[in-house]
Amino acid sequence: MEMKQVSDNCFAVLIEKNRVCDANSGLINLAGGVVIDTQSDLAHARQMIEMFSKVWPAMPKRVVNTHEDADHVWGNQLFEGAEIIGHRSLPERMKHVANPEEMQKLMHDVANESTRQKLQALHPGLVAAGQQLLEDYNFDGIKLVLPTTLFDARYELNLDGTEVHLIYVGPCHQVGDTIIHVPKEGVVFAGDVLFRLCTPMGWVGTYEKWFHCLDLIIQLNPKVIVPGHGPLCGIEGATEMKAYLQYLRDESKKCFNDGLPSLEAAKRIEFGPYGEWRAPARLYMNVERAYREFRSEPPDAPWNTPATFDAIYEVAKAKGIEVEY
Ligand SMILES: [Zn+2]
Repeated sequence: MEMKQVSDNCFAVLIEKNRVCDANSGLINLAGGVVIDTQSDLAHARQMIEMFSKVWPAMPKRVVNTHEDADHVWGNQLFEGAEIIGHRSLPERMKHVANPEEMQKLMHDVANESTRQKLQALHPGLVAAGQQLLEDYNFDGIKLVLPTTLFDARYELNLDGTEVHLIYVGPCHQVGDTIIHVPKEGVVFAGDVLFRLCTPMGWVGTYEKWFHCLDLIIQLNPKVIVPGHGPLCGIEGATEMKAYLQYLRDESKKCFNDGLPSLEAAKRIEFGPYGEWRAPARLYMNVERAYREFRSEPPDAPWNTPATFDAIYEVAKAKGIEVEY
C-alpha cells in the first residue's frame, strides 16, 4: 500500500498487487476531509487511515462509497460519526452483496483442512480464490455500516469553495456505480468503472452503460484518474478499458454465433494485448455478461459466485496460466 498526492488537495492510497479485493481509496483533504472507499478489511482500512493521517488534520467528516462491493465498504465502521454518502441503491445492495458473515464463513472453511478438502471437490476455483485472499486479508470483525446520505442522479459538495460532483453512472459494473469529479483539481475518482492494468470484473449492468460512463470520464478530461483498482492514470486508462470491453464483446459475439457456451468461448478468446493485465482469466465474467445481453437476459440476473470463480479457474487452467483472481 502506498499513498500518492494526485493534485493540490487530492490523495490516493493504492494497493500495488492489484488482485481481487485490492481496492484503492481516495482523500479530498478539504473542509474536514472526504474519504472515498474504505478498503476490504479492518487491517487495510487502519493502514489507509494511518497513511492519510500524515496529511489530514483529524479523522475525516465524510466518507463516499463509490458502489456496494465489499472491497470498497468494509472499512466504513472505522469512520465513527462520519457522514457516509452513496447512491440510493447502496444500503439494500450492500446487505445483499457485501454480507461479511458469508465471507467470514468461506475464509474459515478454506483455512480449515477438512472443510477445505470437501469444498475443493465441489468448487476448486472458490477455494483457490479463498486461499489467495487468505494471503493478504482477514475479514474477522467486520460489521456492515451503511451509507445514510443517499442520492439519485447527482450530489454536490462544496468543500471550502472547491466543488465536488458525485455523478451516478450505474449500472455499468455494479448497481450503485458513482464517479467523483473534482473539476478544479482535474481529478476523477472512478471507483470500479475503471480497472487499470487488471481485468475488469463487472457484476450488474450493460456494456452500453459502461461505454457511456467511460466516454463521460474522457469528456471530463481529468489530468488524473484514480481507478478503483490499479495504478493512477490519465484518460488513456479510460480509453484502454473501453477498447478492452469492445474487444471482449466483439469476440464473444463471434463465439455466441458459433454456438459455443460462454465458458468455452472464454477459453477460446485470445487475451490479445491484455494478457499482461493482472488476472486475465477473469475475462470469463465479461464473456458471460456479453452472452447475457445476446440472450436478452436482464442486466441484474444473479451470479452464482462459486460457479463463477470455478469458471475463471478453468479458463486459467485451459490457457496454461497461473490461477489468479
Ligand atoms: Zn472493487
